[in-house]
Amino acid sequence: MISVRGYAADRAGAPLTPYRFERREPGDKDVLIDIQYCGICHSDIHAARGEWGEALFPMVPGHEIVGRVARAGSRATRFKPGDLVGVGCFVDSCRTCPECKEGREQFCHTDGGTVFTYNDLEKDEKTRTYGGYSSQIVVDEGYVLKVPAGLSPEKAAPLLCAGITTYSPLRHWKVGKGHRLGVLGLGGLGHMAVKLGASLGAEVTVLSSTPAKESEAKRLGAHHFVPTSDAAKVSAFTGELDFIIDTVSAPHDLNRAVSLLRRDGTLILVGASPTPLSVAAFPLIMLRRKISGSLIGGIRETQEMLDHCAAHTVQADVEVIPMADVNKAYDRVVKSDVRYRFVIDMKTL
Ligand code: NAP
Ligand code: ZN
Ligand code: ZN
Repeated sequence: MISVRGYAADRAGAPLTPYRFERREPGDKDVLIDIQYCGICHSDIHAARGEWGEALFPMVPGHEIVGRVARAGSRATRFKPGDLVGVGCFVDSCRTCPECKEGREQFCHTDGGTVFTYNDLEKDEKTRTYGGYSSQIVVDEGYVLKVPAGLSPEKAAPLLCAGITTYSPLRHWKVGKGHRLGVLGLGGLGHMAVKLGASLGAEVTVLSSTPAKESEAKRLGAHHFVPTSDAAKVSAFTGELDFIIDTVSAPHDLNRAVSLLRRDGTLILVGASPTPLSVAAFPLIMLRRKISGSLIGGIRETQEMLDHCAAHTVQADVEVIPMADVNKAYDRVVKSDVRYRFVIDMKTL
């Protein structure tokens, strides 16, 4: 076993504190990674605070992991010691179902389904998974990404969740030139949706509850900014947008967002409000509008996203923090006070 240092929540809602635990001994196809940086996703907060229901504690959150390979198993062919690599939201899946075979491992639901990076059990159904707020992680090389040259490790870390979660729907719906894309909520996911949407050629409109984010939204690549507190400015966009990526982490008015879509437009829900959102019939039926969800992205698509980011110099805007500040960072994320992703420097563990 490998002894690892990390930070964990002991129970739902408890502050994160230092925690020592063991990881499995790396197998033939595994790589052992020395973690350099780990982003703080709002999902970490929902999970550690038990907002999504039952969870496994102690919980070491973190699924935006970048580090260097320390050791590669004898049958691992894709990586060697020293390589800069990433690990995202899952570390295994059944590998045989149609979803896995076609590179949509996030939707695996056979044989226990996708194994998430933390708050889950490995395929042996007993080894707990622990996330990236830790010194090292052991992962099968098939679930590890290459971080391309040109990306800096701390700014690449958030791409492993915030990046792929916004890139995947943009690609699925082929969003690009000629499309008007709305981004609801300018946090970690939202700021990546702006950068990636703009890099694909879309005309991007940010809809934000924080008016002070206007100038930053433009700097990130948005063409328009709509403060959601200003009813007149919101109404001016009624029926205007082809797509909206909704990244809001809390209950909010979905129907007002839907009304901004044009005929056959799609609202793509990625934000995971812990309580249900209500849907009114008329905004949907009047213009045949749609609401869909989207979950992260598969391994192949995550690599494609990282390569796209390197080619278009798209990286996250980060505030690097020491491990001991994680609880303060959680409170700031919940207050929408993050510009635009906190990333923990694991040297400070
Ligand atoms: P985040 O950084 O906290 O961003 C969320 C943004 O939503 C905030 O910055 C804020 O933007 C807006 N917001 C927050 N509370 C609001 C409220 N009560 N009313 C209106 N707007 C509000 O969070 P994140 O890390 O981007 O994650 C966003 C959500 O996506 C979370 O629920 C997370 O669990 C989920 N998620 C889903 C997936 C997936 O695969 N579907 C993957 C990762 C994360 P403004 O200040 O601009 O209004
Ligand atoms: Zn995440
Ligand atoms: Zn599968």
